[in-house]
Amino acid sequence: MSSTGIVHLVGAGPGDLGLVTFRAKELISQADVLVYDYLVHPELIKWCRPECEVVYVGKKAGFHSVPQEEIEALLVKHAKAGKRVVRLKGGDPFVFGRGGEEARTLARDNIPFEVVPGVTAALAAGAYSGIPLTHRNTSSSLVFLTGHEDPTKGELQIDWRAYGSLKNTTLAIYMGMGHLRFIMDELQAGGMSAAMPAAVVQWASLGRQRSVAGTIATLAGLVEKAQLGAPAIIFVGEVVTHHDDIDWFEHLPLFGRRVAITRTRDQNSELREKLETLGAEVLELPLITISKDTDRLGFVEILAELGSYDWIVFTSANGVRYFFEDFLKGFKDIRSLGILRFACVGKATAREIERYHIKVECMPDTATGESLADALIATGSLDSAKVIVVTGNLNRDVLVRKLEAGGAILDRLLLYKTEKTDLAHDPVADDFREKGADAILFASSSAVQSFAEQSAVLALSANAKLPLAGSIGPQTTETMKKAGMAIGFEAKKPSLDSLIEALIKNLKSN
Ligand code: SAH
Repeated sequence: MSSTGIVHLVGAGPGDLGLVTFRAKELISQADVLVYDYLVHPELIKWCRPECEVVYVGKKAGFHSVPQEEIEALLVKHAKAGKRVVRLKGGDPFVFGRGGEEARTLARDNIPFEVVPGVTAALAAGAYSGIPLTHRNTSSSLVFLTGHEDPTKGELQIDWRAYGSLKNTTLAIYMGMGHLRFIMDELQAGGMSAAMPAAVVQWASLGRQRSVAGTIATLAGLVEKAQLGAPAIIFVGEVVTHHDDIDWFEHLPLFGRRVAITRTRDQNSELREKLETLGAEVLELPLITISKDTDRLGFVEILAELGSYDWIVFTSANGVRYFFEDFLKGFKDIRSLGILRFACVGKATAREIERYHIKVECMPDTATGESLADALIATGSLDSAKVIVVTGNLNRDVLVRKLEAGGAILDRLLLYKTEKTDLAHDPVADDFREKGADAILFASSSAVQSFAEQSAVLALSANAKLPLAGSIGPQTTETMKKAGMAIGFEAKKPSLDSLIEALIKNLKSN
């Protein structure tokens, strides 16, 4: 029999990917089985290994979630089969997450487990709405409460009136939107002043965050008018007054804007990060899927002769990852690379190479295959030089042809495949089809091409917002025109920053 595995009860944070702990990321990327809930960011699931079994146990529209006993039985079953199980929960597993019950079952069944805390929703809601949870002069205690009460399920009932008499306290109420008016009334009945500040923060930390602030007498009406709903945190206390002065997040230039980007290149994570930092809700359309090419024609021969090559050229970070994965399996020593010099197409690829403490000796200013070839030729070292070009199945003919014309003896190493993703059942694509976006950004011609190829599956519904299409530069614009797209705006310079600058300007005047 296999030895017992382990269950990690892991907090996934409130939504924003940057608020996931290092430990959580590490465990997700090592897991054999991942069991997750509603309110866990879908991007997190992509950190799993391809072999990882992913099980969703949360609520689905119209359906109940998987019963707690079944979830616990599932964790026990997989752990007993020797698996590394990650049980991922929104926020923190021990704050209104039933993590305690799961841990207890594991302890009872002698299953090793670990608990990894997460940023709980109240902390994120406070930070991202400019409501400090405590304050030297007005709030010296903080209470987390649940507004979801169901005595039929044996849950505790909260004496709201008693909380209404507390002084210098901040209340952070989870799951309370269904009973908002009742709770506010009860606090007043308990003696709390009708003028006590109160606020609701929905979807805290995400681009779609919304908040309203008032008093315990006005909040329910304001929330109804603004149509806020779950998931949200209700705050009650003097600290809420700070919201007016320090509500930094909702004032970011792209706050409340939905921006679609196409996942076709490495620089995308950089684009996503930049947009999110500016407050946008980013929809990353996964147009293509990159996988390892299992044939890897010629790889063994090239590795055996590695010492005879002068340059190795990478056109994507994927290439770097797949190259080193196999190289290190074969050699186990980075020095076997010998005197090989490294060239690459752009910054994202360079960063991946530098992770191995290897210096990139040649990188063009503009990240295109053509500029890379020019930059290599300009080093004056290509004549009769032996060069490895690591690519995917997409053609890199311009680069290869130019290098050969420059005198290089070239070997092409095909390490990965780029294929179309099935978008019919993809959650991000669903969201895009249903609601559309304020803008869609194209950072390369290849992104335009893959978008155009899949545009039929991505057709917007009748009520969806038609996005303004932005292009990174003249070449991309040309491809967009050829595909029949209307051009909303073009970046002044072909860089991500300039593209984002144009986006902000165009959305403002829109
Ligand atoms: N374990 C979770 C709480 C789960 S209970 C945690 O520690 O955060 C679910 C409730 O959490 C929701 O009803 C809502 O009140 C709150 N919540 C979760 N994510 C939220 C978010 N992004 N913004 C506001 N409230 C959130």
